[in-house]
Amino acid sequence: EIILAIETSCDETSAAVVRGGREILSNIISSQIETHKQFGGVVPEIASRQHVESITLIMEEAVHKAGITLADIDAVAVTQGPGLVGALLVGLVAAKSLAMALDVPLIGTHHIAGHIYANKLVHTMVYPSVALVVSGGHTELVVLEQEGSFRIIGRTRDDAVGEAYDKVARSLKFPYPGGPHVDKLAQSAEEALPLPRAWLEPDSYDFSFSGLKSAVLAAINQANMKGLMLDPATLARGFQESVIEVLVEKAIRAVHAYDAKQLLLCGGVAANGGLRAALQARCDEENVPLLIPPMSLCTDNAAMIAAAAHLKWERGQFSELDMKADPMLSLEEWSVSEGAKFQ
Ligand code: ATP
Ligand code: MG
Ligand code: FE
Repeated sequence: EIILAIETSCDETSAAVVRGGREILSNIISSQIETHKQFGGVVPEIASRQHVESITLIMEEAVHKAGITLADIDAVAVTQGPGLVGALLVGLVAAKSLAMALDVPLIGTHHIAGHIYANKLVHTMVYPSVALVVSGGHTELVVLEQEGSFRIIGRTRDDAVGEAYDKVARSLKFPYPGGPHVDKLAQSAEEALPLPRAWLEPDSYDFSFSGLKSAVLAAINQANMKGLMLDPATLARGFQESVIEVLVEKAIRAVHAYDAKQLLLCGGVAANGGLRAALQARCDEENVPLLIPPMSLCTDNAAMIAAAAHLKWERGQFSELDMKADPMLSLEEWSVSEGAKFQ
Protein backbone atom coordinates (compact mmCIF):
# COMPACT_ATOMS: atom_id res chain seq x y z
CA GLU A 1 0.00 0.00 0.00
CA ILE A 2 1.03 3.60 -0.47
CA ILE A 3 0.58 6.07 2.38
CA LEU A 4 0.94 9.81 2.01
CA ALA A 5 1.87 11.26 5.40
CA ILE A 6 1.88 14.82 6.72
CA GLU A 7 3.80 16.19 9.71
CA THR A 8 3.29 19.75 11.00
CA SER A 9 3.51 19.35 14.80
CA CYS A 10 6.23 21.93 15.37
CA ASP A 11 8.51 23.86 13.05
CA GLU A 12 8.99 21.45 10.15
CA THR A 13 6.44 21.20 7.36
CA SER A 14 6.83 17.74 5.90
CA ALA A 15 5.06 15.36 3.53
CA ALA A 16 6.20 11.89 2.52
CA VAL A 17 5.11 8.99 0.38
CA VAL A 18 5.96 5.58 1.80
CA ARG A 19 5.19 2.15 0.34
CA GLY A 20 4.54 -0.86 2.57
CA GLY A 21 5.49 1.06 5.71
CA ARG A 22 9.19 0.88 4.87
CA GLU A 23 10.07 2.07 1.40
CA ILE A 24 10.47 5.86 1.28
CA LEU A 25 9.44 7.11 -2.15
CA SER A 26 9.77 10.74 -1.05
CA ASN A 27 10.24 12.65 2.20
CA ILE A 28 10.07 16.42 1.72
CA ILE A 29 10.97 18.57 4.71
CA SER A 30 10.75 22.33 4.89
CA SER A 31 12.33 23.68 8.06
CA GLN A 32 11.29 26.99 9.58
CA ILE A 33 14.45 27.27 11.68
CA GLU A 34 15.68 30.37 9.85
CA THR A 35 12.42 32.18 10.65
CA HIS A 36 12.31 31.23 14.33
CA LYS A 37 16.03 31.78 14.92
CA GLN A 38 15.62 35.53 15.28
CA PHE A 39 13.21 34.95 18.20
CA GLY A 40 15.45 32.40 19.91
CA GLY A 41 12.80 29.68 19.75
CA VAL A 42 9.66 28.51 18.00
CA VAL A 43 6.88 31.12 17.89
CA PRO A 44 3.61 29.12 17.62
CA GLU A 45 1.62 31.76 15.68
CA ILE A 46 4.35 32.13 13.09
CA ALA A 47 4.77 28.35 12.84
CA SER A 48 1.07 27.89 11.99
CA ARG A 49 1.14 30.60 9.37
CA GLN A 50 4.22 29.17 7.69
CA HIS A 51 2.69 25.68 7.65
CA VAL A 52 -0.34 27.15 5.87
CA GLU A 53 1.90 28.81 3.31
CA SER A 54 3.95 25.72 2.51
CA ILE A 55 1.78 22.64 3.09
CA THR A 56 0.16 22.42 -0.36
CA LEU A 57 3.45 22.84 -2.21
CA ILE A 58 5.20 20.33 0.05
CA MET A 59 2.44 17.76 -0.54
CA GLU A 60 2.59 18.30 -4.29
CA GLU A 61 6.35 17.95 -4.23
CA ALA A 62 6.12 14.71 -2.22
CA VAL A 63 3.71 13.21 -4.76
CA HIS A 64 5.76 14.43 -7.70
CA LYS A 65 9.11 13.24 -6.32
CA ALA A 66 7.62 9.83 -5.48
CA GLY A 67 6.66 9.43 -9.13
CA ILE A 68 3.08 8.51 -8.27
CA THR A 69 -0.30 10.03 -9.02
CA LEU A 70 -2.93 10.92 -6.43
CA ALA A 71 -4.91 7.85 -7.51
CA ASP A 72 -2.09 5.62 -6.22
CA ILE A 73 -2.55 6.80 -2.62
CA ASP A 74 -4.25 4.19 -0.39
CA ALA A 75 -4.37 6.18 2.86
CA VAL A 76 -3.51 9.60 4.25
CA ALA A 77 -1.67 9.76 7.58
CA VAL A 78 -1.18 12.87 9.68
CA THR A 79 0.34 13.78 13.04
CA GLN A 80 -2.62 14.23 15.40
CA GLY A 81 -0.43 15.13 18.39
CA PRO A 82 1.40 15.91 20.54
CA GLY A 83 2.61 19.28 19.32
CA LEU A 84 1.53 22.89 18.91
CA VAL A 85 -2.24 22.88 18.44
CA GLY A 86 -2.31 25.54 15.71
CA ALA A 87 0.50 23.81 13.83
CA LEU A 88 -1.16 20.39 14.09
CA LEU A 89 -4.44 21.85 12.80
CA VAL A 90 -2.87 22.88 9.51
CA GLY A 91 -1.70 19.34 8.80
CA LEU A 92 -5.03 17.90 9.91
CA VAL A 93 -7.08 20.09 7.58
CA ALA A 94 -4.81 19.25 4.65
CA ALA A 95 -4.94 15.52 5.42
CA LYS A 96 -8.70 15.41 5.87
CA SER A 97 -9.32 17.29 2.62
CA LEU A 98 -7.09 14.92 0.69
CA ALA A 99 -8.55 11.79 2.30
CA MET A 100 -12.04 13.02 1.56
CA ALA A 101 -11.25 13.98 -2.03
CA LEU A 102 -9.58 10.64 -2.75
CA ASP A 103 -12.07 8.66 -0.65
CA VAL A 104 -9.31 6.82 1.22
CA PRO A 105 -8.87 6.18 4.97
CA LEU A 106 -7.42 8.82 7.29
CA ILE A 107 -4.93 7.69 9.94
CA GLY A 108 -4.29 10.04 12.87
CA THR A 109 -0.79 9.31 14.10
CA HIS A 110 1.19 9.89 17.30
CA HIS A 111 4.33 11.99 16.77
CA ILE A 112 6.44 9.96 19.21
CA ALA A 113 5.26 6.66 17.72
CA GLY A 114 6.64 8.18 14.53
CA HIS A 115 10.01 8.96 16.09
CA ILE A 116 10.19 5.35 17.39
CA TYR A 117 9.07 3.74 14.12
CA ALA A 118 11.54 5.81 12.10
CA ASN A 119 13.73 2.84 12.97
CA LYS A 120 11.57 0.53 10.89
CA LEU A 121 12.36 2.53 7.75
CA VAL A 122 15.94 1.29 7.92
CA HIS A 123 16.13 -1.57 10.44
CA THR A 124 14.35 -4.79 11.35
CA MET A 125 12.56 -4.33 14.65
CA VAL A 126 11.99 -7.25 17.05
CA TYR A 127 10.11 -7.42 20.37
CA PRO A 128 10.16 -6.89 23.25
CA SER A 129 12.24 -3.78 22.85
CA VAL A 130 12.97 -0.57 24.72
CA ALA A 131 13.01 2.86 23.07
CA LEU A 132 14.88 5.84 24.45
CA VAL A 133 13.06 8.86 23.06
CA VAL A 134 15.06 12.07 23.28
CA SER A 135 13.70 15.13 21.53
CA GLY A 136 12.86 18.79 21.90
CA GLY A 137 9.72 18.09 23.91
CA HIS A 138 10.14 14.53 25.17
CA THR A 139 12.49 12.35 27.18
CA GLU A 140 10.97 8.93 27.65
CA LEU A 141 11.79 5.28 28.11
CA VAL A 142 9.18 3.22 26.30
CA VAL A 143 8.71 -0.54 26.41
CA LEU A 144 7.31 -2.17 23.25
CA GLU A 145 6.09 -5.61 24.30
CA GLN A 146 4.96 -6.22 20.76
CA GLU A 147 4.59 -4.33 17.53
CA GLY A 148 2.70 -1.07 17.98
CA SER A 149 2.21 -1.37 21.75
CA PHE A 150 3.74 1.35 23.86
CA ARG A 151 4.23 1.50 27.63
CA ILE A 152 6.01 4.50 29.12
CA ILE A 153 8.11 3.37 32.09
CA GLY A 154 10.03 6.61 32.57
CA ARG A 155 9.69 10.24 31.57
CA THR A 156 11.19 13.59 32.41
CA ARG A 157 9.76 15.32 35.45
CA ASP A 158 10.73 18.76 34.15
CA ASP A 159 12.69 19.74 31.03
CA ALA A 160 13.11 17.51 27.99
CA VAL A 161 16.73 16.80 27.01
CA GLY A 162 16.52 18.87 23.84
CA GLU A 163 14.98 21.72 25.79
CA ALA A 164 17.84 21.59 28.33
CA TYR A 165 20.36 21.59 25.47
CA ASP A 166 18.68 24.59 23.90
CA LYS A 167 18.63 26.52 27.20
CA VAL A 168 22.28 25.80 27.95
CA ALA A 169 23.12 26.75 24.36
CA ARG A 170 21.30 30.03 24.77
CA SER A 171 23.29 30.87 27.91
CA LEU A 172 26.43 30.21 25.86
CA LYS A 173 25.05 32.64 23.23
CA PHE A 174 24.44 30.05 20.53
CA PRO A 175 21.52 30.55 18.12
CA TYR A 176 18.41 28.34 18.22
CA PRO A 177 18.37 25.35 18.04
CA GLY A 178 21.50 25.12 20.14
CA GLY A 179 21.76 21.36 20.69
CA PRO A 180 24.16 20.69 17.81
CA HIS A 181 26.40 23.62 18.86
CA VAL A 182 26.72 22.37 22.45
CA ASP A 183 27.41 18.87 21.10
CA LYS A 184 30.24 20.12 18.87
CA LEU A 185 31.72 22.31 21.59
CA ALA A 186 31.61 19.45 24.13
CA GLN A 187 33.45 17.15 21.74
CA SER A 188 36.22 19.73 21.36
CA ALA A 189 36.80 19.99 25.13
CA GLU A 190 39.80 18.54 26.89
CA GLU A 191 38.14 18.30 30.26
CA ALA A 192 34.70 18.36 31.80
CA LEU A 193 33.37 20.65 34.50
CA PRO A 194 32.06 18.32 37.25
CA LEU A 195 28.27 18.69 37.42
CA PRO A 196 25.60 16.73 39.31
CA ARG A 197 23.76 13.66 37.94
CA ALA A 198 20.04 13.43 38.53
CA TRP A 199 19.55 9.73 39.34
CA LEU A 200 16.32 10.28 41.32
CA GLU A 201 15.08 7.23 43.30
CA PRO A 202 17.23 4.12 42.77
CA ASP A 203 14.52 2.17 40.94
CA SER A 204 13.13 5.09 38.95
CA TYR A 205 13.33 5.34 35.16
CA ASP A 206 12.32 9.00 35.32
CA PHE A 207 14.60 11.84 34.33
CA SER A 208 15.17 15.40 35.50
CA PHE A 209 17.28 18.00 33.77
CA SER A 210 16.24 21.30 35.29
CA GLY A 211 18.66 20.95 38.24
CA LEU A 212 21.53 20.34 35.86
CA LYS A 213 20.49 23.29 33.74
CA SER A 214 20.41 25.50 36.85
CA ALA A 215 23.86 24.23 37.87
CA VAL A 216 25.18 25.25 34.47
CA LEU A 217 23.64 28.71 34.71
CA ALA A 218 24.96 29.10 38.27
CA ALA A 219 28.47 28.19 37.14
CA ILE A 220 28.30 30.82 34.40
CA ASN A 221 26.96 33.50 36.78
CA GLN A 222 29.53 32.77 39.46
CA ALA A 223 32.36 32.98 36.97
CA ASN A 224 30.98 36.28 35.66
CA MET A 225 30.67 37.73 39.17
CA LYS A 226 34.19 36.80 40.09
CA GLY A 227 35.45 38.00 36.73
CA LEU A 228 36.86 34.54 36.05
CA MET A 229 37.17 32.91 32.67
CA LEU A 230 35.03 29.80 32.41
CA ASP A 231 35.95 27.73 29.41
CA PRO A 232 32.65 27.20 27.53
CA ALA A 233 33.91 23.91 26.07
CA THR A 234 34.66 22.51 29.52
CA LEU A 235 31.20 23.56 30.62
CA ALA A 236 29.51 22.06 27.56
CA ARG A 237 31.37 18.79 28.06
CA GLY A 238 30.42 18.69 31.75
CA PHE A 239 26.78 19.22 30.84
CA GLN A 240 26.82 16.67 28.05
CA GLU A 241 28.55 14.03 30.21
CA SER A 242 26.00 14.40 32.97
CA VAL A 243 23.09 14.10 30.53
CA ILE A 244 24.56 11.15 28.68
CA GLU A 245 25.58 9.13 31.73
CA VAL A 246 22.06 9.19 33.16
CA LEU A 247 20.38 8.45 29.82
CA VAL A 248 22.69 5.54 29.06
CA GLU A 249 22.49 3.95 32.53
CA LYS A 250 18.71 4.08 32.75
CA ALA A 251 18.24 2.83 29.20
CA ILE A 252 20.54 -0.16 29.77
CA ARG A 253 18.85 -0.96 33.09
CA ALA A 254 15.46 -0.93 31.34
CA VAL A 255 16.74 -3.22 28.57
CA HIS A 256 17.78 -5.83 31.14
CA ALA A 257 14.70 -5.44 33.34
CA TYR A 258 12.34 -5.98 30.40
CA ASP A 259 14.43 -8.58 28.58
CA ALA A 260 14.51 -6.36 25.54
CA LYS A 261 16.04 -7.77 22.37
CA GLN A 262 16.86 -4.30 21.07
CA LEU A 263 17.38 -0.76 22.27
CA LEU A 264 16.04 1.94 19.95
CA LEU A 265 17.37 5.48 20.12
CA CYS A 266 15.19 8.14 18.52
CA GLY A 267 14.12 11.79 18.45
CA GLY A 268 16.07 14.88 17.47
CA VAL A 269 18.68 14.53 20.23
CA ALA A 270 19.56 11.09 18.80
CA ALA A 271 21.65 13.20 16.41
CA ASN A 272 23.96 13.93 19.36
CA GLY A 273 27.40 12.52 18.59
CA GLY A 274 28.38 12.05 22.23
CA LEU A 275 25.17 10.21 23.08
CA ARG A 276 25.37 7.92 20.06
CA ALA A 277 28.98 7.01 20.82
CA ALA A 278 28.44 6.42 24.55
CA LEU A 279 25.31 4.36 24.02
CA GLN A 280 26.94 2.29 21.27
CA ALA A 281 29.98 1.57 23.44
CA ARG A 282 27.82 0.52 26.38
CA CYS A 283 25.54 -1.62 24.19
CA ASP A 284 28.58 -3.37 22.70
CA GLU A 285 29.83 -4.15 26.21
CA GLU A 286 26.44 -5.51 27.24
CA ASN A 287 25.72 -7.30 23.99
CA VAL A 288 22.59 -5.25 23.35
CA PRO A 289 21.72 -4.55 19.71
CA LEU A 290 21.28 -0.78 19.31
CA LEU A 291 19.19 0.70 16.51
CA ILE A 292 19.48 4.38 15.57
CA PRO A 293 17.86 5.93 12.51
CA PRO A 294 20.08 7.96 10.19
CA MET A 295 20.32 11.65 11.15
CA SER A 296 17.79 12.72 8.50
CA LEU A 297 15.13 10.46 10.05
CA CYS A 298 15.93 11.47 13.67
CA THR A 299 14.55 14.98 13.35
CA ASP A 300 10.94 15.69 12.44
CA ASN A 301 9.85 14.24 9.10
CA ALA A 302 6.70 12.75 7.59
CA ALA A 303 8.22 9.41 6.53
CA MET A 304 8.35 8.37 10.18
CA ILE A 305 4.66 9.27 10.50
CA ALA A 306 3.88 6.98 7.56
CA ALA A 307 5.91 4.19 9.19
CA ALA A 308 3.84 4.43 12.39
CA ALA A 309 0.56 4.85 10.50
CA HIS A 310 1.32 1.64 8.60
CA LEU A 311 0.79 -0.30 11.87
CA LYS A 312 -2.80 0.93 11.97
CA TRP A 313 -3.29 0.43 8.26
CA GLU A 314 -2.37 -3.24 8.60
CA ARG A 315 -5.02 -3.65 11.27
CA GLY A 316 -7.68 -1.58 9.57
CA GLN A 317 -7.71 0.96 12.41
CA PHE A 318 -8.66 4.24 10.82
CA SER A 319 -9.65 7.66 12.13
CA GLU A 320 -12.91 9.53 11.70
CA LEU A 321 -12.92 12.55 9.41
CA ASP A 322 -13.90 14.74 12.38
CA MET A 323 -10.71 13.76 14.28
CA LYS A 324 -9.43 16.58 16.48
CA ALA A 325 -5.84 17.77 16.88
CA ASP A 326 -4.68 16.70 20.34
CA PRO A 327 -1.65 18.57 21.72
CA MET A 328 -1.55 16.12 24.67
CA LEU A 329 -2.26 12.89 22.75
CA SER A 330 -1.26 9.86 24.83
CA LEU A 331 1.27 7.44 23.31
CA GLU A 332 0.00 4.49 25.33
CA GLU A 333 -3.58 5.07 24.23
CA TRP A 334 -2.47 5.35 20.63
CA SER A 335 -1.13 1.75 20.78
CA VAL A 336 -2.66 -0.52 18.12
CA SER A 337 -5.50 -2.67 19.38
CA GLU A 338 -5.12 -6.39 19.68
CA GLY A 339 -6.70 -8.45 16.97
CA ALA A 340 -6.00 -9.92 13.63
CA LYS A 341 -3.88 -8.16 11.10
CA PHE A 342 -5.13 -8.17 7.58
CA GLN A 343 -3.25 -7.34 4.36
P1 ATP B 1 9.07 16.54 20.02
O1 ATP B 1 9.49 15.50 19.05
O2 ATP B 1 9.30 16.15 21.44
O3 ATP B 1 7.70 17.06 19.74
P2 ATP B 1 10.65 18.35 18.47
O4 ATP B 1 9.97 17.67 17.35
O5 ATP B 1 10.74 19.82 18.50
O6 ATP B 1 10.04 17.80 19.82
P3 ATP B 1 12.94 17.15 17.44
O7 ATP B 1 12.78 17.86 16.14
O8 ATP B 1 12.74 15.70 17.49
O9 ATP B 1 12.10 17.82 18.58
O10 ATP B 1 14.39 17.51 18.01
C1 ATP B 1 14.82 18.86 18.11
C2 ATP B 1 15.70 18.98 19.33
O11 ATP B 1 16.87 18.18 19.15
C3 ATP B 1 16.16 20.40 19.61
O12 ATP B 1 15.99 20.65 20.99
C4 ATP B 1 17.64 20.36 19.24
O13 ATP B 1 18.45 21.26 19.96
C5 ATP B 1 17.99 18.93 19.58
N1 ATP B 1 19.20 18.48 18.89
C6 ATP B 1 19.39 18.34 17.55
N2 ATP B 1 20.65 17.92 17.30
C7 ATP B 1 21.27 17.80 18.49
C8 ATP B 1 22.58 17.39 18.92
N3 ATP B 1 23.53 17.06 18.04
N4 ATP B 1 22.85 17.38 20.25
C9 ATP B 1 21.89 17.72 21.14
N5 ATP B 1 20.66 18.10 20.81
C10 ATP B 1 20.35 18.14 19.51
MG1 MG C 1 11.83 20.64 15.03
FE1 FE D 1 9.81 15.53 17.07
